Amino acid sequence: MTIRNILIHPDPRLKKVTDPVASVDDNIRRLADDMLETMYDAPGIGLAAPQVAQMLRMIVMDCAKEDDATPEPMVLINPQVVWSSDARSVYDEGCLSIPDQYAEVERPTEVEVEWLNLDGKTQREKFDGLWATCVQHEIDHLDGKLFIDYLKPLKRQMITRKMQKLKREMARG
Ligand SMILES: [Zn+2]
Repeated sequence: MTIRNILIHPDPRLKKVTDPVASVDDNIRRLADDMLETMYDAPGIGLAAPQVAQMLRMIVMDCAKEDDATPEPMVLINPQVVWSSDARSVYDEGCLSIPDQYAEVERPTEVEVEWLNLDGKTQREKFDGLWATCVQHEIDHLDGKLFIDYLKPLKRQMITRKMQKLKREMARG
């Protein structure tokens, strides 16, 4: 397993609509392993393939967040929200591509998602709580959408400027 480099906003690859995974093969399984490793290392609770420059519809997550909780790694290939609740919840969201920036985002409280697992089999599950927020946040990444796109323009621009500054500092080493 390899820890991959996480793209930092602003980056054109984070704004693109990604391609469906055509077949769940060893390359995809290797990418899933790398994405989980990268997510745990960051550390984070979710990661989408475009964040590691792979323009594919694939996400990983683990929202079992208590320190002593048993890990619950999930890999969702070609995930799709097939139902969402009318009820909505607000969470303070962050993103590994927008380090150290958090903002409240409102989303459906519950969603039902269908995806392919690592055996290429269709799975369907209902998510609530933090899992629901996380899965919607990650699926947004596959459509080139970031959580800051839900914020007012002024707040979004402020965060983007901070990230541009961070990237300049990182480039300088
Ligand atoms: Zn994110």
